[in-house]
Amino acid sequence: MATIEIERLVKRFGTTTVVHGIDLSIEDGEFVVLVGPSGCGKSTTLRMIAGLEEISAGTVRIDGRVVNERQPRDRNIAMVFQNYAIYPHVTVADNIAFGLYRSNLSKSEKRQRVEQVAETLGLTHLLERRPSALSGGQRQRVAIGRAMVRDPAAFLFDEPLSNLDAQLRTQMRIEIKRLHHRLGTTSVFVTHDQVEAMTMADRIVVMREGRILQVGTPMELYENPVDVFTACFIGSPT
Ligand code: ADP
Ligand code: MG
Repeated sequence: MATIEIERLVKRFGTTTVVHGIDLSIEDGEFVVLVGPSGCGKSTTLRMIAGLEEISAGTVRIDGRVVNERQPRDRNIAMVFQNYAIYPHVTVADNIAFGLYRSNLSKSEKRQRVEQVAETLGLTHLLERRPSALSGGQRQRVAIGRAMVRDPAAFLFDEPLSNLDAQLRTQMRIEIKRLHHRLGTTSVFVTHDQVEAMTMADRIVVMREGRILQVGTPMELYENPVDVFTACFIGSPT
């Protein structure tokens, strides 16, 4: 598990500022959803936490330590993307094992770990298949497996369900939450889908134009939106 604290976090691309000094503290084991319209800076924020995007100003702390200068692989967090980022030409087992490519485990220990993860995700019978033979939901599970296999302290999800059809999306929401509870891992989940945010989050962070407008539980946001934007976005009556 991990706490994630971001302080006065800024991202500039050239002369354009896309994240304007945001502050956010995420507790151990919390499931936090960043929600907001396309282009508001959700992915950029997540990528700065993951170390995939350089920070222009401010700090990211994981478990109390500033990680600004740390490589992604040294942050002990795993990212799951919308486009799965899995390799179509190698087996499911090898796709999951790819998450361990820098680890010191022996070959048989790696295999054991891959099998454990596959079992948790219901992928055991698919280990020797290639992703091209899998459904969208199964592929997304492989991507989660790759992230899980290193036993990260936190998961960062960037719109992982956007490419799935409605029914599967609902099912995967439940699966991801179940996994989150089982593993006790801190999760930051990005979406532009209000329903996803309302149904999955312990706390929702509403973003707009690179700023945080409001942070609260789904109920708090529903009952007390700070402004019309949040109200409309979250779908409450005020
Ligand atoms: P979201 O994930 O909320 O849709 P992003 O974080 O992807 O938003 O993008 C926030 C803003 O930053 C957008 O205006 C986007 O065009 C801009 N942006 C993102 N990545 C880059 C980049 N590599 N270079 C320039 N601008 C970028
Ligand atoms: Mg995005």
